[in-house]
Amino acid sequence: MTLAGTPDFIALLSDADSLQLMLFACPDGVIATDRADDVLLYTGSSELMFGFSPIEVMRQSVRRLFATPDGYGHFRSQLERDSRVVNLEVLAARKDGPPFIAAFSAALIRDRYGSETGSVIYIRDHSKMRAIESALRDNNRRLNDLVRTLNHVAQHDQLTGMLYRGSAIEAAEAALLASGLNGAPFGVALFDLDHFKSVNDSYGHLVGDEVLASLADVLKSAARQDDIIGRFGGEEFISFLPDADLESVAAFAERVRVAIGDARVQVGNEVHINVTISAGVAAVPTCADSLQEAIRVADDRLLLAKRHGRNMVVADDALQEKSAA
Ligand code: GH3
Ligand code: MG
Ligand code: MG
Repeated sequence: MTLAGTPDFIALLSDADSLQLMLFACPDGVIATDRADDVLLYTGSSELMFGFSPIEVMRQSVRRLFATPDGYGHFRSQLERDSRVVNLEVLAARKDGPPFIAAFSAALIRDRYGSETGSVIYIRDHSKMRAIESALRDNNRRLNDLVRTLNHVAQHDQLTGMLYRGSAIEAAEAALLASGLNGAPFGVALFDLDHFKSVNDSYGHLVGDEVLASLADVLKSAARQDDIIGRFGGEEFISFLPDADLESVAAFAERVRVAIGDARVQVGNEVHINVTISAGVAAVPTCADSLQEAIRVADDRLLLAKRHGRNMVVADDALQEKSAA
């Protein structure tokens, strides 16, 4: 490497006062060592960084400025191998404080015969930079957690913990697309609690909320891992069942109907509230070509269930034909 400088500047280097000024202006710690690696030069910036006074380090091994023998060993072996070291991060020693992370750069000085006569070392304190990096990482982690929480809150109903209607449909569209690729069927079940208004009328809305949340749990525990369930409206729920044909989704809805019918939600010490549920089910591709169409068919069947006495699952249009006849 050559030094870029005019002859005037090169002349300045041999002038002791100018050289001292240049070293003084350098914000990095600058240290020069002799062939035994003892300190010959120790600038004010070095003193500020390491906390040792010049008297404590001059003519002493530079090794004491490294916090660990390993760090010093690493630095020395790189310097001997490459004749220079560029920004090697190691733990540096601080006189009255804990070690700090610093970047060591250095060049080996050789005489005209190639023997080492010493080295010049530049040290930059990286502890603040590391602290800022670590704070930034923490902040990033907190932000990611917050985004995750906000996403969860935006997609989930607080009372039941279920997906909102829009998010459930969005998830179902994606699942249908995936299962459609291998031609698998896709089941849809729409549920509506029977005469739920009377629960509110008899016990009040707060109790109604409690009952709604408990029954939502019953529905959740009937679902498989891959099923998508959501709160469709007030006391209406929707389930999307990947890989389920009409028969399977009807069997699922029937299990839910029986489980809800069997559930007794305890309110206070005495009262156990029992509610039934009605459902309409459909499947792609048996009853519909699209998810929206399957939801519409399930909704029509739910209405049929309501019209024909409630507490039942309707999986076909036979009842409709019966009522039309
Ligand atoms: P049906 O068998 O025909 O479905 O009768 P229903 O009383 O369940 O149906 P309707 O649509 O007439 O009323 C639904 C009721 O559900 C009305 C509303 O007070 C209640 N409801 C809806 N969402 C909530 C809720 O978040 N909390 C409570 N406590 N009640 C709710
Ligand atoms: Mg209802
Ligand atoms: Mg309703």
